[in-house]
Amino acid sequence: MLPEDEHNKKLVSHVHPADWTNPTPSGKYNLVIIGAGTAGLVTAAAAAELGAKVALIERHFMGGDCLNVGCVPSKAIISAARVAASVKDAGQFGIHVPEGTEINFKQVMSRMRKLRSEISPHDSVERFSSLGIDVYLGQGEFIDSSHISVDDTQLHFSKAVICTGARASAPPIEGLDSIDYLTNETLFSLTELPKRIGIIGAGPIGCEMAQAFARLGSEVYLVEAADSILTKENPDAAAIIREQLINDGVKLMCGGKELKLSPADEQQIRMQVNSGECNHDITVDQLLVAVGRAPNTEGLGLEKVGVKYSKKGVVIDDHFRTTNKRIFAAGDICSPYQFTHAADFMARSVIRNALFFGRAKHSSLVIPWCTYTSPELAHVGLNPTEAEKRGVKIDTFTQPMAEVDRAILDGETKGFVCVHVKKGSDKIVGATIVANHAGDMIGSISIAMTQGIGLGSIANCIHPYPTQGEAIRKVGDLYNKTRLTPTVASIMKRLIDWQR
Ligand SMILES: Cc1cc2nc3c(=O)[nH]c(=O)nc-3n(C[C@H](O)[C@H](O)[C@H](O)COP(=O)(O)OP(=O)(O)OC[C@H]3O[C@@H](n4cnc5c(N)ncnc54)[C@H](O)[C@@H]3O)c2cc1C
Repeated sequence: MLPEDEHNKKLVSHVHPADWTNPTPSGKYNLVIIGAGTAGLVTAAAAAELGAKVALIERHFMGGDCLNVGCVPSKAIISAARVAASVKDAGQFGIHVPEGTEINFKQVMSRMRKLRSEISPHDSVERFSSLGIDVYLGQGEFIDSSHISVDDTQLHFSKAVICTGARASAPPIEGLDSIDYLTNETLFSLTELPKRIGIIGAGPIGCEMAQAFARLGSEVYLVEAADSILTKENPDAAAIIREQLINDGVKLMCGGKELKLSPADEQQIRMQVNSGECNHDITVDQLLVAVGRAPNTEGLGLEKVGVKYSKKGVVIDDHFRTTNKRIFAAGDICSPYQFTHAADFMARSVIRNALFFGRAKHSSLVIPWCTYTSPELAHVGLNPTEAEKRGVKIDTFTQPMAEVDRAILDGETKGFVCVHVKKGSDKIVGATIVANHAGDMIGSISIAMTQGIGLGSIANCIHPYPTQGEAIRKVGDLYNKTRLTPTVASIMKRLIDWQR
């Protein structure tokens, strides 16, 4: 892990200690887990706590993408970038910061590495060993339906779980092979702020990093083949993020279907983009490729055990079982919901199904997600297009953040809370929130959806004033107003008149 400073040395000493000796297996395991990212760690810890004999295999770093090259480092950088943006905007609040305020990128990255190393004991070899789990560092590979090898050691299992995750995929872009480019595996090792950075892919990772690097002072060129950013999201929500990225100085090139890359002088990279009417010819110092994820299926010996897989990953049924009934899968390797919290909850379901004959279903999980731009964009459940495809008729209630007192006071009025209910009822089927803390707010809607709490009941729940979360209660009020039909209104009026 570069750079080899004290923080990264501490991180590696936790997640892949050089002096680690693999244990010697003693008999058959209830569960052998390949991959110690979120899915593998949660599966292993929960199974061991319940008394199972567990082996956990990791070829690289315990903690997987999330700790080492995903959520944790990206959010640390985003936090620093938010501070930079607040300082820049401080004048609006009457706070005048002296000209020439410096952003020290080296310190931003050093802080990130320090915090990552401080979080890492939680995912460490030492902690998982202390839970009674046999931790093996090395490449796991199936030999047959009851054995897995790690280097020269054979582990005998009753059930196995594939938690090998995914990695950045290399899209078929002309010239990509001819240049050195960054992915999430190398981005967080930067120690110098790129003066100009190109980012390919305006999905969640591309948008988060584009905004963060622009706020930290890079010239950012964000190229997206589609006509808009965050294409999986509600277009109104994505449009707000798009506007904010442009305000932050990101040069956005949507519709960039024709893209050619080539080396330029002094280790720079030339990007030739044809985005509809415009041709762009840009030279950048670094290029981040953030287009899609490829499942880690290679070298696992899946063919030997009859586990089917495709370019999308390992095929599972709704109960997380692969095409080999003794082998299960969880996390990015088998699910379109490629999030840490999704991996966590899939792992919990796998424990029930693999060890206790449970019937927990992938399709029953209510999985919210959030893109951590400013404002954040969070979503859960169905959007109107999906609802239509499934034949679910919906009513939609929207509360703009511009009418929420706390958002006004915070100067954070861009965004809305939009909740979809099953037509004619208050049963919530989905929601999108664009707000500065949308990721925290969407949790209330997820609770309502999982516990069957209707939108009308949310209106009856007292929220503290002034909070941005009140926007959700206000959506409940909007729903309740629709129940005040002319008949109900006239009965109420008569009742009031009678009391006079
Ligand atoms: C830049 C970035 C930012 C992100 N931000 C967020 C976020 O803010 N919130 C969020 O919810 N999600 C985020 N994610 C997604 C999140 O990181 C993943 O969904 C999560 O890590 C998936 O966990 P996993 O256990 O399925 O896989 P992984 O974390 O990929 O772990 C798989 C592990 O398996 C190991 N492995 C693979 N093959 C073998 C083998 N044959 N033998 C032994 N070991 C093997 C790998 O080395 C790896 O450690 C982000 C991802 C990226 C890239």
